[in-house]
Amino acid sequence: MAQAIASRPRPLEDELRQDVVRFCQLLHQKGFLAANDGNVSVRLGGGRILVTPTGTAKAFLAPDELVVVDEKGQKIGGLGEPTGELPMHLEVLHRRPDVEAVVHAHPPMCIALSLVRSPRLNDVLPEVMLSLGQIDVVPYARPQTEALARSLAGRIERCDALILERHGTIAVGVSVAEAYFRTERIEHAAQVLWLAHALGRPLPLAEPEARALREAHARGRHIRTA
Ligand SMILES: [Zn+2]
Repeated sequence: MAQAIASRPRPLEDELRQDVVRFCQLLHQKGFLAANDGNVSVRLGGGRILVTPTGTAKAFLAPDELVVVDEKGQKIGGLGEPTGELPMHLEVLHRRPDVEAVVHAHPPMCIALSLVRSPRLNDVLPEVMLSLGQIDVVPYARPQTEALARSLAGRIERCDALILERHGTIAVGVSVAEAYFRTERIEHAAQVLWLAHALGRPLPLAEPEARALREAHARGRHIRTA
């Protein structure tokens, strides 16, 4: 089980608000969400969580539009209402005390791959295996429900990024930036895998190499790509 890292300094609230807005804009620019889709949360400390508001286009989000809630989801501050996916964010933050931020997006290739029966997602791309580890597809649950939040149990503890069947992705990180970049990585992997599936059946790595990569990821010896 992941452990909270108590000694990590947390940025000031103003910086976190700027981070959320900046990466929401990037999610939109990259085509990882459309219109009002997607949502982001980050811990503020003292049990407070900063979340994106419901019904807001992420391309035009402003720092003062973000909403503050407590760990049970009760609103503490902000003019609007929190994202409809708040139960999913709270579930993830509860299950991952080692992370600070959660990014939920709708990247098209990840969604497309989740619609295909048994796509080969794992044991194919070595750097994805090292940086993200196992890519799990979470079976369908209706968006914005407690059922969707509960569906992450047992998966988000072992995966830093997940594909939600017919829906999108959820990624965690020690910062909004890390959660965003994990979203970018999983969508890039999905693009490569989609191309491979279009050409034929992607071939897995030889098992000894795949096992070595899985073990390297488990030990946290991630390769940082340039
Ligand atoms: Zn969604």
